[in-house]
Amino acid sequence: MAGLGLSLNLSDLGDKPNKSEPGQVVERDLIIIGSGPAGLSAAIYAGRSERKPLVIAGQTFGGQAALTAGIENYPGFQEGIGGLNLIEQMIDQAKKFGADIIYDDVTEFDSSGYPYTVKTLDAVFQARAIIITTGASPRKLGVPGESKFFGRGVSTCATCDGYFYKDREVVVVGGGDSALDESIYLTRFASSVTVIHRRDALRASAILQERAFANEKIHFVWNSVLEEVLGDRVVSGVKLRDVKTGEMTELACDGVFIYVGLVPSTQLFAGQLELDKDGYIITDRKYHTNIPGVFAAGDVQDPHFRQVVVAAGSGAAAAIEADHFLAEKDYEAGKVE
Ligand code: NAP
Repeated sequence: MAGLGLSLNLSDLGDKPNKSEPGQVVERDLIIIGSGPAGLSAAIYAGRSERKPLVIAGQTFGGQAALTAGIENYPGFQEGIGGLNLIEQMIDQAKKFGADIIYDDVTEFDSSGYPYTVKTLDAVFQARAIIITTGASPRKLGVPGESKFFGRGVSTCATCDGYFYKDREVVVVGGGDSALDESIYLTRFASSVTVIHRRDALRASAILQERAFANEKIHFVWNSVLEEVLGDRVVSGVKLRDVKTGEMTELACDGVFIYVGLVPSTQLFAGQLELDKDGYIITDRKYHTNIPGVFAAGDVQDPHFRQVVVAAGSGAAAAIEADHFLAEKDYEAGKVE
């Protein structure tokens, strides 16, 4: 047991597979780190392969999908579905097939010995195979006032915070699908939504552009970047710079929603797994990382598509590969003929 002391099987822990006493190690066949569409699809597939996967969901579960008000392009839901609703259904489906789900954060991943070690706030686990689906989190601008006012007028989640801006004026920074999707959502509450974009053409898909341009509450400030978030105790405005003329202006507003892309959540794996220059985990076409038995799926390894359906598909594929890996290990150990 790689020098980690007493080891336990899950069955030793009764109905508490999520905690271990000091020095105890909980053994699992397969651990899935993350609980977005990739992790939960992996859990459904691994559950149906009777691998009894453990999903370490994080204290806030569901990833970016759970924070999305409405998902219109996930197959099977013609009228769209709320992101949290979709995630909750995936959790129920995974549990139905025997997945254990714990709402704990991974604090350490160690692939130097085998089985691999995963520590959380509450427990130490060892697993024969691991699927990493830790996703990506919103990129910050790094401008003055952004951190100071985070949660006091600055947000990266319209679904979470939009309600607080009833009849208020907000700005949205970014020109991609997220910026427009969330701008349209914010018009349910806000009296006006001003999109600040650094170019004069949007990156967002045509359908979202059409809807945003047709929405009377949405206005655009082109060729401009946010230089500073202004305020005293809460946000009162933003300072903008026109990138063409260099002119600085101030715009009064009550809220600032930032959607300038995502950064992969891979800090735990740096130095162990191969990452690309932007920090995404490098996998082969079957979602294998450079370490045997460690797989990655979803946004944590996908800088290109970042769609719920793509993440779900990659999670399913990673689970199939993890099952093959475990079957091979069992065969080598003579556990199966
Ligand atoms: P994204 O597509 O990477 O767009 C980021 C936007 O932020 C771009 O317009 C970019 O400008 C701008 N930006 C980046 N860094 C900036 C900075 N430092 N200052 C100012 N602006 C900056 O990210 P996203 O919109 O979050 O979307 C992520 C992925 O999720 C995409 O693949 C998207 O298609 C997908 N998604 C899909 C849906 C949907 O299908 N309904 C909804 C949400 C997200 P430039 O354009 O100049 O590069």
